[in-house]
Amino acid sequence: MMRGLLRVTSVNRLFSLIVATLFVVVAGLAGWLLTFDLRAYAAAADALNALQRFRTSLLVAEAISAERGPMNSMLGAELSPTPVHDQSALIAARARSDEQLQQLQVLLSRQHCEECGAHIGLIQHVRADLVVSRQRADLLIGLPREQRTPEELADSVDGMVALIPELLPMVSDYGADVIEREPGTLDEVILARLAAELREYAGLLGSRFTVALATHRSLSVDELLLIERTRGRVDQLDALIEGRELQSPTVAQAAFERMNQQYFGAGLNYVAATRAAASMPNGAVLTAGEFARHYVPLMHSITAFRDDVLDQAQGKVLAQRRTALFDLLGTSVGAVALAIALFAMIAWFRRRVVQPLVGATRVIGAIAHGDLDTGVPQVSYRDEIAEMFDAIRLLKANAIEKVQIERQRDELMIELEVMAETDFLTGLSNRRAFEKRAAFICAETRDAEPMIALIMFDLDHFKQINDTYGHGAGDRTLVTVAELCRAIWRPADLIARVGGEEFAVLMRLSRAEQASEIAERLRRQLAQTDLGLGHDAIVSMTASFGIALAWQHTAPTLESLMKSADEMLYRAKAAGRNGVVTGQAQLPA
Ligand code: GH3
Ligand code: MG
Ligand code: MG
Repeated sequence: MMRGLLRVTSVNRLFSLIVATLFVVVAGLAGWLLTFDLRAYAAAADALNALQRFRTSLLVAEAISAERGPMNSMLGAELSPTPVHDQSALIAARARSDEQLQQLQVLLSRQHCEECGAHIGLIQHVRADLVVSRQRADLLIGLPREQRTPEELADSVDGMVALIPELLPMVSDYGADVIEREPGTLDEVILARLAAELREYAGLLGSRFTVALATHRSLSVDELLLIERTRGRVDQLDALIEGRELQSPTVAQAAFERMNQQYFGAGLNYVAATRAAASMPNGAVLTAGEFARHYVPLMHSITAFRDDVLDQAQGKVLAQRRTALFDLLGTSVGAVALAIALFAMIAWFRRRVVQPLVGATRVIGAIAHGDLDTGVPQVSYRDEIAEMFDAIRLLKANAIEKVQIERQRDELMIELEVMAETDFLTGLSNRRAFEKRAAFICAETRDAEPMIALIMFDLDHFKQINDTYGHGAGDRTLVTVAELCRAIWRPADLIARVGGEEFAVLMRLSRAEQASEIAERLRRQLAQTDLGLGHDAIVSMTASFGIALAWQHTAPTLESLMKSADEMLYRAKAAGRNGVVTGQAQLPA
């Protein structure tokens, strides 16, 4: 398969193959990079969503915790009905929890995260439990204070407290989601989670005083134990947060210091003082409401710390998302720019190298096959390709020149051949041409003209013409004789000057007498023709004729015919010249 692909026979196809391979490689690489960047962007976007879920779920837990403050105040209130400002605080706190729960539910149904569906169910469950806890608390609040037993009050508080652990798995899941998608937020998520828990235990620590303060009695041993246990957990959380802060001191440092001052300092001192007062035999003079009004604002530094930490985490995730977006854009722009540059280069290379090469191949092929009309492309640049076209143009010019030289040579050869076979003085065939053409005439048979005659004649006393009038006059005489011959014989008959003043004519005959008749005619004409040599007198010429006759079908040879005609000519000379003698030897009787 690979070998078959590589065995391409055209440069154009090979080039297309290379371009296609290059495209696949570049597209693959760009696709891989884009996928990588897209994943990073999606992870950052997911991290942001998870962080929103994390924060909202923490706010839900906080709102439900916070609801306990005004509730505890009312449970501990002296009067029934309770004071209006406590009532409105409880209503506002409940409304806030409901709103936070609603917000979380909307968020979860919008985000469609993996565990969101299950968590919506959980929220509904918490809501139902919340309704039950509130109803139980409202029932107690509706009773006169002395009818509220400590057990009932403790149950009511515990009912609200128990709601928080229900929410914690959800909070943990979302925290883990954030860390998984943006590991750089590990410290922030842990700190936020610890701060949220601290807020819960700080609230719980306050709640432990509610019953004793409400009933104006000293703290029971059980309550003291609970307070110590809760305080112990608060201290643990303090140590955990501090440890983390020591590791990553940049995380919400200012808020951390404020929390140390306000909650761990003033807040815990106030708790210690209240615990001491409430341990007195008749309990503290402080009401639950007064305690809450002093203690709850000091807890705000915990939630402020938590919010700062969360803001910092959000900043990190947003920065990550921005980086991922820039990477994605950078990769996209880079990939597009690379593709454009690559294709521009490919197009340029095809136009400047591949196409000229293919064109050159076509032109060279045409020149090699003798087609010299194919044009050589003109290019407007100077490089090796331009030089190649220059060379092809030269090649073409050489080829044209060669063709012209060959044509001239052929013409020259034809001319030479004609010259070699023509008598230069008279323009008649010479002896060589006569012998060559006569062989054809002797071999060919024609029904209408079954005989062949060779008429040979020699001018009488020609030497005298030369001697008397000069060699030029002799030449002119020979030309005159040739003209007379051409006038008498047909173009198909073969007339030649075979010697100095000796001529031969080979002709076909339908009748035997035709030869002597025609010879006679020339003899007479010659004798009557004034050669224009004498000034006053007429100067004419005579000739002696010898004729050899033969039947065409006997396939006579030129040699035998010449021999016979020569003999007859000799006889004509011997008989006194200016006569015609016909040899009958070869004719059947
Ligand atoms: P005969 O009747 O016996 O044929 O006598 P003749 O004088 O014609 O024959 P001879 O063979 O004695 O002389 C031939 C002459 O023809 C000799 C030569 O000078 C002349 N001659 C041959 N070729 C040419 C030629 O091309 N031009 C000229 N002017 N004379 C030629
Ligand atoms: Mg002669
Ligand atoms: Mg002669």
